[in-house]
Amino acid sequence: MHRLTLGDLELTIFSDGIYPLDGGAFFGVIPKVMWSRKVEADERNYVTAGLNSLLIRTGKQTVLVETGMGNKLSERMIKFYGQPAKLLDNMAAAGVAPEDVDIVINSHLHFDHCGWNTVRDRNGKIAPTFPRAKYYAPEGEWRYARRPSERDAISYIPDNYDPLVASGQMTLLKGGEEIVPGISVKTFPGHTAHMQAVIVTSGLKTACYISDLIPTKAHIDVTWGMGFDLYPLDTIESKKLYYAQAIPEKWLTVFTHDPKTPWAYVEKDEVGKMFAKGPSEKS
Ligand SMILES: [Zn+2]
Repeated sequence: MHRLTLGDLELTIFSDGIYPLDGGAFFGVIPKVMWSRKVEADERNYVTAGLNSLLIRTGKQTVLVETGMGNKLSERMIKFYGQPAKLLDNMAAAGVAPEDVDIVINSHLHFDHCGWNTVRDRNGKIAPTFPRAKYYAPEGEWRYARRPSERDAISYIPDNYDPLVASGQMTLLKGGEEIVPGISVKTFPGHTAHMQAVIVTSGLKTACYISDLIPTKAHIDVTWGMGFDLYPLDTIESKKLYYAQAIPEKWLTVFTHDPKTPWAYVEKDEVGKMFAKGPSEKS
């Protein structure tokens, strides 16, 4: 299990499982001769992607950042992605029940980031997976999700968020809010227009769930964006802004889709090339 202490906080990664993703889509305009040195592709050109959620225990609250793919995919989506649906089992194995979660934060509302927000109950009705939790998501993202472009419409499953907004259990964020002391959100456009990173600070230490802005360790170079990014030039600018603070301040970066390395410190070598390092974890 990936777990560490950040100041007074305990951070744990929980995975919803792994899924196959087209390598070309995952690395956008980067040629396969380059990305295949970093990740392995199968004979269909698929690579393995992870689904990493971050659980933060503050001592007062239990906060879950991102809820994976969930278990409500359509038959068609299951053909592409499978439906690993392992998040609740992995949390249970570490003694975390859905009722223990006080706060859920979604960086954006694509299906692979908010899938376990809700489940279908015995009668087929949509119910919150985390019954006691207050949910948060970016307001601009939710507005866009109601009328998405044809390009990424398939990625929005209203059952993941609309019932929570309607019931008042989900609060929509402008960006910049502090949700509990030490845990705040910041908008980084690029993957979508309104995606928000979750910044976690305790004492002098900071970790950042940067979500699809830097989805894996292989994507740390500023030009290595995903084909899925709606605004690729904004991705580059957002990454530069992020690194300008994260590198000198030694932030721990959490990689949402890395199947092996869920977090690392991004550093720069003498020639300005970025690389990922550490961290040391406790077992
Ligand atoms: Zn994603």
